[in-house]
Amino acid sequence: ATPTSIMVGTGRAAELGVLFRKGDALQRLEATGIVAFDKTGTLTEGRPSLVRIVTAEGVDEAALLTRVASAEQGSEHPIARALEQAAEGPLVQPASVEAIAGHGLAAEVDGRRLLIGAARLMTREAIDIAPLAAAHDEVAKAGQTPVLVAEDGRIVAVFGIADAVKPGARAVVAALHEQGLRTALITGDTVATAQAIAAQLGIDHVEAEVLPEGKLDAVKRLRAAHGPVAFVGDGINDAPALAEAEVGIAIGTGTDIAIESADVVLRSGDPRGVVEALHLSRAVLRNIR
Ligand code: ADP
Ligand code: MG
Repeated sequence: ATPTSIMVGTGRAAELGVLFRKGDALQRLEATGIVAFDKTGTLTEGRPSLVRIVTAEGVDEAALLTRVASAEQGSEHPIARALEQAAEGPLVQPASVEAIAGHGLAAEVDGRRLLIGAARLMTREAIDIAPLAAAHDEVAKAGQTPVLVAEDGRIVAVFGIADAVKPGARAVVAALHEQGLRTALITGDTVATAQAIAAQLGIDHVEAEVLPEGKLDAVKRLRAAHGPVAFVGDGINDAPALAEAEVGIAIGTGTDIAIESADVVLRSGDPRGVVEALHLSRAVLRNIR
């Protein structure tokens, strides 16, 4: 591409709120084989809420929720905000809290030892989830994130956390498929939850239960199978994958680190900007060939 046509193209993109931080991203975008999306905050609003509680026998639901929210007070995870909002009583100061990346957290609240997080946290801590396994699977199949809670070594509850899909998400996936591209979802969420969301949006391929440091490897796997990758993300966790992808596309409402690692920024946070960017790259490169 000539420098002038690239300047005109990136200028038009800017009017649409699509900011090309690097001019050669237009060429790399045109050659993309697959567009991979982060889930939370990218395809979903990133403002999850608690929609379902299933407890084991004899558990006081309100008191448990207060302890869980107390443990989550210091966490940055959106799930923590959903749990805090749902709690009714005043929260207490936990004696200790330990975040376990990609898994959840361990805390001591009111003299009880709590584990709060994904099923793999319970596996790691040798907690038997059998009494609530059916509820866990049901929550996940509904596209909600299941959060399990154990107290003093016993599984006591599963929470269903729902995060609404962004209005433009389905249309973006359909438009990318129409353009002959493949699509993928990369998330730390459990397989069943990720598959339910992918099915809802029409996404081809799912990389689930990806640990924070694993998104970069997921991009490499997708590249090996489908060619050059465009990765769309918003979080701190997404920065390495944004840098690794042929085209890193950051959601402008996301974290600064994600934006700094990206080649393209969608200023409005609307995922439809991905399609605008793609159209533009094709139009510009068609013009100059
Ligand atoms: P994601 O951004 O996809 O949620 P994370 O690596 O941050 O990925 O988290 C992966 C999973 O670990 C979450 O889906 C959740 O099940 C669990 N988890 C992480 N942090 C917390 C937390 N503070 N409270 C409860 N569960 C958590
Ligand atoms: Mg995210």
